[in-house]
Amino acid sequence: MQALIGLGSNLDHPAQRLISALRALQRLPGLTLRHHSRLYASAPVGPQDQPDYVNAVAAVDTTLSPHALLHTLQALELAAGRQRLRHWGERTLDLDILLLDNCVIDSDDLRVPHPQMTRRAFVLEPLLEICPHALLPDGTALSSFLGQVAEQPISPLAELDRDALIE
Ligand code: ATP
Ligand code: CA
Ligand code: CA
Repeated sequence: MQALIGLGSNLDHPAQRLISALRALQRLPGLTLRHHSRLYASAPVGPQDQPDYVNAVAAVDTTLSPHALLHTLQALELAAGRQRLRHWGERTLDLDILLLDNCVIDSDDLRVPHPQMTRRAFVLEPLLEICPHALLPDGTALSSFLGQVAEQPISPLAELDRDALIE
């Protein structure tokens, strides 16, 4: 199945952290990195007294179950020193499952599509960069939400070209 994964960091060299996380996604058993976006700088949601974020989206093929994928991503967050300090607060690495094919999952620890994705420019812009025609499971084009997030500041960074890490 294809998974779209949102990456974010705003602590301790965020751009380098995302590049390392993309390389880790490439190395992990059961995952194949197919595409990744450029890196984007975005303003924080939630508490405003935290650094700006660097975000990206990756498309991977995976043989893992949805929960095994979640646990694998959580292990990468922990390996990056992730600590939960406050809700929507600063973090070294955040890995969210955005979409998993056309699956709809609503369990205590996993909701897919990611419930906030259509409200966030830092998800939609990089996602549409690599999958311009992406749809929600109900058939709605993700591009149709761009107008609603147009006010959120976000800009691509020069550090990484699209798909530069794909072997
Ligand atoms: P948000 O989910 O609004 O982006 P966040 O990323 O800061 O906020 P976390 O603290 O990283 O939230 O995660 C809280 C919990 O969300 C995790 O423990 C995980 O079980 C759960 N979760 C539910 N759906 C997903 C998903 N699609 N991808 C990743 N985690 C999810
Ligand atoms: Ca998140
Ligand atoms: Ca998360």
